[in-house]
Amino acid sequence: MITGKNFIGNVLSATGLKTFKTFNPKENIENEYVFVEASKSEIEVAVSLANEAFKEYREISGNKKSAFLNEIANQILKLDDALIEIYCKESGLTKERAISERGRTIFQLKSFANLVKEGSWVKAIIETADVERKPIPKVDLRKMLIPLGPIVVFGASNFPLAYSTAGGDTAAALAAGCPVIVKSHPMHAGTGELVAKAIIKAAEITGMPNGVFSNLNSSGIEVGTILVKHPQIKAVGFTGSVQGGRALFNLASQRPEPIPVFAEMGSVNPVILLPKALQNSYEEWSDMYADSVTLGSGQFCTNPGLMIGIKSPELNNFIEVLAKKIAKREPTCMLHPTIYKSFETKKEAASVQKGVDVVTKDSNNNVQNFGRPSVLTVDGEQFLKNPNLHHEVFGPFTLIVQCENENQLEEIISKLEGQLTGTIISNSDEVLKFKKIVDALKNRVGRIIFNGVPTGVEVCEAMQHGGPYPASTDSRFTAVGTLSIIRWVRPISFQNWPNNLLPDALKNENPLNISRSINGEISNKKINS
Ligand code: NAP
Repeated sequence: MITGKNFIGNVLSATGLKTFKTFNPKENIENEYVFVEASKSEIEVAVSLANEAFKEYREISGNKKSAFLNEIANQILKLDDALIEIYCKESGLTKERAISERGRTIFQLKSFANLVKEGSWVKAIIETADVERKPIPKVDLRKMLIPLGPIVVFGASNFPLAYSTAGGDTAAALAAGCPVIVKSHPMHAGTGELVAKAIIKAAEITGMPNGVFSNLNSSGIEVGTILVKHPQIKAVGFTGSVQGGRALFNLASQRPEPIPVFAEMGSVNPVILLPKALQNSYEEWSDMYADSVTLGSGQFCTNPGLMIGIKSPELNNFIEVLAKKIAKREPTCMLHPTIYKSFETKKEAASVQKGVDVVTKDSNNNVQNFGRPSVLTVDGEQFLKNPNLHHEVFGPFTLIVQCENENQLEEIISKLEGQLTGTIISNSDEVLKFKKIVDALKNRVGRIIFNGVPTGVEVCEAMQHGGPYPASTDSRFTAVGTLSIIRWVRPISFQNWPNNLLPDALKNENPLNISRSINGEISNKKINS
């Protein structure tokens, strides 16, 4: 049952005065539940509980954290149809998408559960003492990763499960040993409450301290602002717009004690169409890209919003065929009226820029909240002159830039903002001749794809989901995959500590049987004392 209340630690609470409802974009009506925004005193209690919980939770064993994460996955599955139903009502996304996103969420939780159970992720590095060393004896130094403290997570509007309440940021932070306070996304507060209930149930079953998790409702920036400025909060995870991410980053850096904000924000994910590939198979590529541009109503951070090629009859054919295929697609429901309006406004603004042609001709029979896919084109010179064309149009949209030559193509790539992904469509002989294009693209992106589409983000250790600003605030880290745990920890070195007082990960006898670096050699070995 959805109550509309906040979870302040394990307790449901609603002392605030501001209320709001979520919206069903498919039906174009408000949903019935009333949510109560967290009050200042509730925020204070949630943070103070998280701070207290941290004292216990940071020391909890990998096995216990693993049991907690696995139990969250079990409890989410137990929500069954109730979760799928509210997900669809609050997002306009399909039941199939809800089920697959739930699967991804469960997979992420279980991956982190396995990681912390195995234990080597703490990166233990041991350099034993050398008392004989001349002229100065070498001290015993042992380093490992430890959790930062209470974390605030801002869930994404476009992934109500996998990048929200129990999504990647939360799973990684809990795995690291950090309590989490979720600032629930107002567009799917009901989905958030059900998932929060699953997390609290799992925390109770597995004996986690009260305050290890809280879920705060809000509609508007106040709750998030208070949380990010709170001295007991030690880091922030965010997925959403560049404006939102940047505002939180600025707030966090202006604090007396600045803290990291790991924000994953906008991206146009440039696709570079090299000439030979289009000569041979422009039909196949247009099929693939008609699917990729319109997938999930284009509401993916990896949506291919920009395609760039060199002027040629083959590029013309590709544009024509892609536009025809996309024009045949029916408009699809977007997440929320504000996202739909923002899509329509940005699409319209792009289409009236100098030199821009709309190649998919829109008919006027638009359905409220349903985004009609669009393909626009412009030549390289106009694109270079007009920074307005470089920004994300969040939705089923792509702009195709036609360059005069390879030099212009390289100049355009070099002038793009940082991106999550970049794609090269070519063949292995041709791509060798375009080394400077590939090098320019590598310099702008976090993931570079050869002959594929950027949509579809595999959850695994080799995935990099994060790129140079503004794709993310820190391109050295990923928001997807188990290595994302590194965002929520810091290294600490223990110098000359007695063996029995060291954390288990650093003890001579290696009681956790983890892989460690001992005087430069990686092994699970014990150290003879
Ligand atoms: P958003 O506006 O950035 O909001 C995300 C979350 O951050 C919300 O919970 C929001 O709270 C909070 N927030 C935003 N600005 C804040 C501020 N200045 N201070 C404190 N909290 C703040 O993103 P959205 O609601 O998900 O979607 C809006 C637009 O973001 C989309 O139209 C799209 O352009 C873009 N977007 C991009 C991606 C991507 O992956 N590239 C993903 C999602 C969205 P409130 O809503 O309560 O104010």
